[in-house]
Amino acid sequence: MAIDVTAVTAAVRSVLEAQGISVISDKANMVPVGVSNRHIHLSTADVETLFGKGYELQPMKELSQPGQFACKEQLTIIGPSMRAIEKVRVLGPVRKATQVEISRTDSYTLKVKAPVRESGKIEGSAGLTIVGPKGVVHIDQGCIIANRHIHMSPADGEAFGVKDGEYVNVEVDNGERRTKWYDVQVRVSPDFRLEMHVDTDDANAVGLPCGSMVRVVKD
Ligand SMILES: [Zn+2]
Repeated sequence: MAIDVTAVTAAVRSVLEAQGISVISDKANMVPVGVSNRHIHLSTADVETLFGKGYELQPMKELSQPGQFACKEQLTIIGPSMRAIEKVRVLGPVRKATQVEISRTDSYTLKVKAPVRESGKIEGSAGLTIVGPKGVVHIDQGCIIANRHIHMSPADGEAFGVKDGEYVNVEVDNGERRTKWYDVQVRVSPDFRLEMHVDTDDANAVGLPCGSMVRVVKD
């Protein structure tokens, strides 16, 4: 039988804490960080407009979250500045609504007023033009700057003592510039694997090395 180390650790810790023994280790509450570059999620209708009728996205590389993958396809995005950002990676699988995730820096290049949002909450977000090899799509909303978030399985949620949708803070002390990220949203789902996602602006500001670990704190 495979042993779920996270669950065992959580159980042992809670028994000790119930007896007034606090357990602190260097590895406690650490989360690996993944840096999300700008990317696009597409609806089936927009896939067909951009790449042609009946076209299906070509998976290129599996991502850390189960079922999610980077596609071979790349697109160009254009904002009101009339400046284009080329080779923006498409991520699969297709979604109900098209969503373009950019950084604040990108938003200045494009001159779009993209709000910081949780993925999927695109109501009233920024519009944008997407150019593909077979067509062009203009979206009235769907362009966002993704919020800082941590993906967790239910077992991880229990180990960290947090619930889906809760906000935590995160200490970052292994980059070039020590910092703390506030208002990091926790997303708990059986489909998720433990990983924090930040955009390139956040990662670059800290000088965060690839594969970094950060610490979840509640204050
Ligand atoms: Zn994510």
